[in-house]
This record gives sequence, C-alpha cells and structure tokens, in this order.
Amino acid sequence: MSINCGKSTIVLDSAAMFAGIELSYGIFYTTEGVLSEVLDINSRMRLEFAIASGKIAVITPPRDYVAIVKSVARELGVLRELSNVDIEVLALASYVKKACGSSILYTDDRLVQDVAIALGIEVRGVKYIEKNRLSSYSYRCRSCGLRSSFPGTCPRCGTTLELEVSR
Ligand SMILES: [Zn+2]
Repeated sequence: MSINCGKSTIVLDSAAMFAGIELSYGIFYTTEGVLSEVLDINSRMRLEFAIASGKIAVITPPRDYVAIVKSVARELGVLRELSNVDIEVLALASYVKKACGSSILYTDDRLVQDVAIALGIEVRGVKYIEKNRLSSYSYRCRSCGLRSSFPGTCPRCGTTLELEVSR
C-alpha cells in the first residue's frame, strides 16, 4: 500500500481504531504497530475487514521520518514518554504531510498531539479514554520555574521546557 493524497491524508492511532473512526467515509492510513495494539476480537475483525476492503492502508514510515519525530520529541522534552508505536504513527503522519502537503492525525494522546503540532500536523481528538496514560502533566522551565501547558521554549527566558508528570 502507498500514500494516495487524492484519497486521504488521514492517519489513525489506536484510540481512533477503538473509536471506530475507520467506519466513517473515506480511507485511512495507519501502521503495523497501531494494529498490534488493537487486541480485542471485535475491533480486530472490523480492522481485518477494513484492511481487506482497502479502507485502511497499512504503511511503514521511512526511517528518516522516525528520526525527525525523535529529534522533535527530544527538543520538546517528551521523547522518553513516547512509545515506539507513538513515534511510528507520528512518523507516518509526518511522511503523509511531506507527500501531500498536509496531514491529519486522529489521536487523544496529549503528548502525541503536542509532538504532532510541533511537526505541523493537524490534530483531531477521538474522545476515547485510555486509563493507563498520564493523568495530568504540564511543562516547566528549569531555569525560571515558569509552568506551561504547551511544550517548546520558555516564553520568559528561552530555556527548553521540561515535561512534568503527576499521576
Ligand atoms: Zn524560563
């Protein structure tokens, strides 16, 4: 399967899969890693069907895009919090953006959303609640103590903000 910009620029993560986004009109891209996270039998059967009928295209993002995602995540101070699947799906969204000029990533994961936005990818939530994820977090400047809900550099002193996690 390859990217067909005329048909779709939408990438789905596992939350989007559980929410059944692929049942809506159109075709969607995802990765092997995302599929491997979908274990319940009903979702799996639905996905097998969607893949067989060409509604879901499973694409492995090129290594360069994985490297770009890792470097952006590192700059944002969130690399260690991202799973390999998170990185893979971000790399795919980044690859689609490069190929098509834009891409949309469906995910409810705040960290994935933050990195996607930094990569210029459009983000949509799917309102699936993942219970084992971080409950709340913010970004904090180590030099001046400023707190922010967004990653990046400190608006006061320019230092890279660090992720602060509370469970
Ligand atoms: Zn600061």
